[in-house]
Amino acid sequence: MAFKDGDEIVATPAASTVKNLDGIDPDWTILDWSKYLYTPRGVRVAIPNMARGCPFTCSFCSQWKFWRDYRVRDPKKVADEIERLVNDHQVGFFILADEEPTINRRKFIEFCEELIARGLPDRVKWGINTRVTDIMRDRKLLPLFRQAGLVHVSLGTEAAAQLKLDQFNKETTVADNKLAIKLLRDADIFVEAQFIVGLDNETPETLEETFQMAWDWQPDLANWAMYTPWPFTPLFQELRDQVEVYDFSKYNFVTPIMKPAAMTRGELLNGVMKNYRRFYMRKALFHYPWRGTGFRRKYLMGCLKAFLKAGVGRTFYDLGKAGYWGPQSKAKVDFHFDETRTIAEAQMQDWDATADRAARARERQQAVRAQVKERVAERAKEAAFQLPADAGPIMACGGGKQQMQEPAE
Ligand code: SF4
Repeated sequence: MAFKDGDEIVATPAASTVKNLDGIDPDWTILDWSKYLYTPRGVRVAIPNMARGCPFTCSFCSQWKFWRDYRVRDPKKVADEIERLVNDHQVGFFILADEEPTINRRKFIEFCEELIARGLPDRVKWGINTRVTDIMRDRKLLPLFRQAGLVHVSLGTEAAAQLKLDQFNKETTVADNKLAIKLLRDADIFVEAQFIVGLDNETPETLEETFQMAWDWQPDLANWAMYTPWPFTPLFQELRDQVEVYDFSKYNFVTPIMKPAAMTRGELLNGVMKNYRRFYMRKALFHYPWRGTGFRRKYLMGCLKAFLKAGVGRTFYDLGKAGYWGPQSKAKVDFHFDETRTIAEAQMQDWDATADRAARARERQQAVRAQVKERVAERAKEAAFQLPADAGPIMACGGGKQQMQEPAE
């Protein structure tokens, strides 16, 4: 909890996390449901939660730090909640709010089986965000996921270059990204590739690379999120000297908070828009309309409609507010940052997460193992050491025949 005490900002230590998520029952009746529409399908949408937290430690991500421990609900209770959303509020699509709902494979399978047993996939479809590594691990389960109504997966592919994936601590490779996309498409699940752009070393060439990569991988959808330097993430700790904007109202993944060394913010926005234009123009002309006549085609055309709606309304990437009207306006865009905002010391403190402790324990374990290995190697070396045949007896101090005399009393 943070509050202002006179001129000082005070932040209390973090409270402990809620361990029993099943004890929390969201009240869905308070929503004005007419406002919650999923444009691609023209149905009501809800964003329920199955788990909190993430056991991974991607350097740019605030989620694992924010939630700290990974905790998951009883899959039956989540299915109960979905059933209520469908029956009581006519929800036709839901997106699991989880950072990575597939991490606990057993519970995720149980959840899918519950939905199938209740006949819910005919009445509600759904989407998730997840990791490339989970898709590869679960490749044989993808048909079951699809049968349970999972139709849309946003994949944290993040980068087109291995160097960046390593910098993000993603623990994946560019080849894994491509394979995971193919596996999802083969299972008839729409796949959305997510890229993070706008770090210090971004250039027009690296932006172009992400476009080429996206086109080569052929996900159904792609998005380019602006890197956002959330305080208390490991990458922020590294880059904090380069962070100039602390107007958190603009920390929304679409505003270029960071200025790359070789580009202006306007050029960065323009490069991202160029990628969107080319990707969706080609998809609209050569892919979406020709993807059969059933659910697939309808869904993709619905996604295109959602994009066009945001583009025409100029809400896409806050283009209206920034005054972006195309390449010719890139030098004139204004993001209206409130430059009076600064960061309070308390906000920069690093939160100790379970994943932090696990990573430290892993490091300690590796160090101990390396030490043991070193000792074993040294002993083996000693055992293998042979004295030359003509060597005399071993003398004290390893010296000659004259031994050190005890001083006379
Ligand atoms: S896997 Fe996703 S949620 Fe987890 S730390 Fe990485 S980016 Fe964040």
